[in-house]
This record gives sequence, structure tokens and C-alpha cells, in this order.
Amino acid sequence: MSFNVADIRNQFPILHQQVYKKDLVYLDNAATTQKPQRVIDVLDKYYQKYNANIHRGVHFLSSHCTDATESARKTVQEFINAAHSHEIVFTRGTTESVNLVAQTFAEKFIKKGDEIVVTRMEHHSNIVPWQMVCEKYGAELKVVDIHPDGQINMDSFKAALNEKVRLVAFTHVSNTLGTINNVKELTSSAHQQQIPVLIDGAQAVQHTHVDVQAIDADFYVFSGHKIYAPTGIGVLYGKEKWLEQLPPWQGGGEMIDQVTFEKTTFNELPFKFEAGTPNYIGAIALGEALDFVRSTGIDQIKAHEDALLTYAAEKIRQFDGIKIIGEAPEKSSVLSFVIDNIHPYDIGVLLDKTGIAVRTGNHCTQPLHDWYKVPGTVRASFALYNTKKEIDYFIEKLEQVLEMLK
Ligand code: PLP
Repeated sequence: MSFNVADIRNQFPILHQQVYKKDLVYLDNAATTQKPQRVIDVLDKYYQKYNANIHRGVHFLSSHCTDATESARKTVQEFINAAHSHEIVFTRGTTESVNLVAQTFAEKFIKKGDEIVVTRMEHHSNIVPWQMVCEKYGAELKVVDIHPDGQINMDSFKAALNEKVRLVAFTHVSNTLGTINNVKELTSSAHQQQIPVLIDGAQAVQHTHVDVQAIDADFYVFSGHKIYAPTGIGVLYGKEKWLEQLPPWQGGGEMIDQVTFEKTTFNELPFKFEAGTPNYIGAIALGEALDFVRSTGIDQIKAHEDALLTYAAEKIRQFDGIKIIGEAPEKSSVLSFVIDNIHPYDIGVLLDKTGIAVRTGNHCTQPLHDWYKVPGTVRASFALYNTKKEIDYFIEKLEQVLEMLK
């Protein structure tokens, strides 16, 4: 399969515009990705022609949307190589998926004195839901350390696993450091002690091949909007044996089997966890986005993004006083940095005026920033449609901005 970045860019209408009369250079892909025309077309087509609520209608439009939604579920299943399509639950995104697991898992399995383990590099979405349930059930949240280069400290990880631990939650790829964790090894360590794992794949699925069976993940979660799909749709993968054991989360339509005022019985998987009208058109568009990634080739995407990262990191290292936060050998296309005596926010604001979109702040990893003793970082994150020319422009403008701020 040949990878032609110009052809790819042509599929993303939003990239072909100017902001402040400058060509847009979008380097904020870890926050959200742009959408290819084919995903936009699917949304348009479904709202123009096919929209009808799913699973409960006998009429043509409803059957059509139901079939398309279930076909999207199969696409997700194949994309992450889940064993069954009923192990794929549609949610609003990573955050909702983590909350769903945290709350239902805790209700069933967590009691006073138990422990839940996370790592220092987690996004707030993979910290706060666990903190909340720990507080509610009297459990303790334990934190695994990292090395200064941004790799998980395996000694700390192994030391955290004891008989009180009920679950370990860790990210596949760090949204701040870019570190690609060895999720297979982490999972295997946890499993040696019979501890299940939840893996946050929000920054992984769009950059690297994910096989939940090869990883042996118990739960794997991600958001559609970070993989070229719309906002408001996400995925919770759970092994059947776990999803079967968890109680339902939200109550309402769709998730039930029989309802009387005396007692309600619940629907089978995955519908037990999909109360109310789901974002079915979002799910269908997610299927389209995954087909787009599949047909482009995840290995080609990764090779392109890796080359961009190496190129950008080499150039940025030449600036005086710069420190890259996150230098793990296995890295995804995230480049976070700080510069001596200059606030990241000022850099972000001035770059914006040149048409460059980067993110500044703590990227929802405040404990990680505290640990590095930095108030925030500037983060440039690359996707399959970015180019070396854009990076050259970014470096040129960064140099000018730093001159101004000196
Ligand atoms: N986990 C990681 C690693 C992320 O990067 C993000 C978003 O930035 C999330 C979780 C939360 O994703 P969402 O806001 O789509 O729920």
C-alpha cells in the first residue's frame, strides 16, 4: 500500500484553510483529530436519508440504522481483534468507558482495604474515576512510578502488585510523554497475580496496531474523535467473562429485558451497558473512520508519524534552554517541551497567530507535570496528514517566537 501524504491531506477539508490569513498548521492531534471527507459524508448521508432510532423499529429506516450500527460494532471488533462483537460497548468516549468500568467493577469487587493501581503518567480520566470509587468504597489508590525519560518503572510496577490489588489501570500511550508502554508485559505481570487490567488506548489506536487478545487486555478503552471519527462516540472493550460479571451501569431503555414495577431483568451483552438511545450515527461514522485507517494502513501511518517525530525532535533540540518532556525509546508522535524562563502559554498564543495550533498546559496530566516540576508544556502532536514542510514552518516560527519572548 503506498502512503501519499498529499492524497491524504486532500481527504481532510478542514486542513485547506487559513487562520489569521496564514495556512492552518494543525499540530494538536493528541487533543482531537480532523475528519476525512468520507466520515463527514457518512454523517451527512445518515442525517439526510436514513436516520431512525435503532433496535426498536420494524420499519425500513430503523432496520437500516440498526444493521449499520451492528456492522460498525463488528468493524471495531475486527480493528482491535476482539473475540466477540458483544465485547464491544459503545460509549461517549474514553472518559465514559473508564467511569463505566470503575463504577460497576467497584460495586461488584471493591471493598474497604482493597487497592487499585494506576501509573504516574495517566490522564485525569484514568485517575479521577478510580479515586472516586476508592473514596466511596474505602479502597486505596496506589501510584506506579516512572523513570525521568518517561518509561514506566517496572520495579515500581511489580512492587505495587500485591494480594490487595483488585485492578491495575494504565495507559497504552501517554498523551503527554508519547511513551508507548509495553502493555503486553504490564498485563502479563498483573495476570501472574490474577489482577485484571484496564488499558487506556485513547492515544494508541490511531498510531499503532492494537490486538486486545494478543495483549490479553481485560478492558481496553478509546475515543472515536482521536481516530478521525466524530466526537461523542467511544468504545469499551471488555472480555466477556468480565462484562458478564459486572452489574449494569445506567438504567433505562435498551438495557433491559423485562420491566415490571416489582423487578427488572437486564438485556444481554453489550446492550446491558448501552442504556437509552445510543449515538448510533456516531458509531456508524466510527466504523467508517476505522475503515479509513485500515485502508490507509496503520503500519504506514506509524512509519510516517515516526519520521515526523524524529525530524521535529532533532530540529527542536537545537534551541537553547529547551527540554523535551518524554524521551522514551518507544514513542508515539507527541512532542512536549519546555523552554527555560518562558511560559508555555505565551509560546502557544504567539504560535497561534502564525496559523499553528499546538496545545499548552498540563494536558490533563497534572500529577505528571507536578512530578517533572513544570507548570505546563507546549505539545505538538502529529497525525497522518502532517508534513515535514509543516514542521519546518513550525520550527521557523518557534524560533521567531522565542526571540520575541527572550
Ligand atoms: N486518556 C488519554 C490518554 C487521553 O489522551 C485522553 C484525551 O485527551 C483521554 C483519556 C480522555 O479522552 P476523552 O476526553 O475523549 O474521553
